[in-house]
Amino acid sequence: MQKLKFEYRIIAGYIIIGGLWIIFSDKLLNYFIRDPDLLTRIQTFKGWFYVLITAILFYTILKSHLIKIRNAEQKAIDSDRLKTAFLQNISHEIRTPMNSILGFSGLLKDKNTSDTEKTDYLEMISKSSDQLLNIVNEVLDISLIETGNISINKKRVQLNNLLDELYLSFKPLIKKDISFSVIKGLSDQLSLILTDAIKIRQILSNLLNNAIKYTDNGHISYGYTRVIDKLEFFVDDTGIGIDSEFHQKIFERFHKVEQENIRLYEGVGLGLAICKGNIDLLKGEIWIESEVGKGSKFFFTIPYEPVYDEETLKPVLH
Ligand code: ADP
Repeated sequence: MQKLKFEYRIIAGYIIIGGLWIIFSDKLLNYFIRDPDLLTRIQTFKGWFYVLITAILFYTILKSHLIKIRNAEQKAIDSDRLKTAFLQNISHEIRTPMNSILGFSGLLKDKNTSDTEKTDYLEMISKSSDQLLNIVNEVLDISLIETGNISINKKRVQLNNLLDELYLSFKPLIKKDISFSVIKGLSDQLSLILTDAIKIRQILSNLLNNAIKYTDNGHISYGYTRVIDKLEFFVDDTGIGIDSEFHQKIFERFHKVEQENIRLYEGVGLGLAICKGNIDLLKGEIWIESEVGKGSKFFFTIPYEPVYDEETLKPVLH
């Protein structure tokens, strides 16, 4: 049988309970009270009592529903505002590399362009293409995460090697006034774990890209330590930092700290939401410690699933 709508159920309940109350309360009163004067007075109070009880009931039911409706309304407004910000962001983020690709490929066609200039222009075109691909990948990733169409693929991973590989690929991107270091919290043997290497690489790469983007001098370091049955990763920088007001919001999709009309740093505001989505899938947590002007330290955890037992150093059965 099809479920009755909420409002019909309320009205039906009201009529049934009211009817039962009228019939049975009268019967009970007539049975117990013989004095007609007393009966009339009680009848009046009985009416008020019913009105009071139904008012309280209506208030409670209506209030809980109104709260739900108002929350949903606020969510819809927020989501709409974020989508508009996202559209503005993404069109700007796409237009910049697109213009660069078009501009430099135009210059390449020019007969007066020297070979060294051509190499520089090709470099710019390749950089802008990477930027475009990155945006498309981020949008794809977030939609896969949000529709639940992404899964974890655990395999044996040499974590220390993975961190070293990241070091080699990020080192050339580090600005010259910044020191760059990696901290590995376990021996090579104990850092052989079961996890999804692609996701770990993607999360660390996103955090490192941000650290590089928002840091002009000082240091950037990353690594992990073991905390009981978890591995706690970190990416630490001495960059612009983030006000505590934004420490939660930045993990929501499309959220950027800088105002929508001021565009100092590129990015569509999806990187951290993707990190959080992946970390949720890995059954970990992500959080930040940061102060404006002092830098940011991002942390995330994953369960520690070693391949070798730390005492016997024999393979653990998984
Ligand atoms: P974006 O593509 O804009 O970098 P993210 O989701 O990666 O998107 O980050 C969201 C926002 O968080 C950024 O716009 C930036 O304001 C802030 N943020 C992220 N990482 C850092 C960092 N290391 N230092 C300062 N601000 C950061």
